[in-house]
Amino acid sequence: MQKITWEVQYLSPPLAVRYCKKCGKKSEYLCSGLFRVNAQRKYLDIWLIYKCSNCDTTWNSTIYSRTNPQSLSPELLEQFHTNDSNLVEQYAMDIELLRRNGAEVGLPNYRITGDEICIDNPTELHIISKYSCQLNVSTILREKLYLSQKAFAQMLSCGQIKSISGLDLKKIKLHNEVVLAIGSNTGIMRKE
Ligand SMILES: [Zn+2]
Repeated sequence: MQKITWEVQYLSPPLAVRYCKKCGKKSEYLCSGLFRVNAQRKYLDIWLIYKCSNCDTTWNSTIYSRTNPQSLSPELLEQFHTNDSNLVEQYAMDIELLRRNGAEVGLPNYRITGDEICIDNPTELHIISKYSCQLNVSTILREKLYLSQKAFAQMLSCGQIKSISGLDLKKIKLHNEVVLAIGSNTGIMRKE
């Protein structure tokens, strides 16, 4: 059985979807790549700033609220002050953070890297991703295998695509890794 790995790479962080007062409707907010740090003697507040894609109204997504400034290392605090890009990415890709702040999470732009698969060859397929997101595993599979909804459903029902750990491929979203068996149950006995 050949082993192939696909990696989902995000080209932009997910959008925050929330009501914009100025637009008077739900709107998509883009991550600005900037933190706002409010450090007083007793309390520290840190936000990641988003902007409404229609009207540029800003929205602050809370990272730390009224936290003891001593609880953060000076190095980390410096990274917040200088909008360190790795730190921005870490928070911008954190969909739980957006949810805790009351926003819905939009899909990020992404691309899938990795070798093409011939679905007749038995393959152990690993789909990996550095970040959890809202992306359905079925969407990734259909996109990369060029399958219609119907063809995909047929392959699932006859076991030609399945999750090695028995997950429901119609429902699951991609977290860090999912392992699939493809083309291994075609009804034809293979010579080992
Ligand atoms: Zn707006």
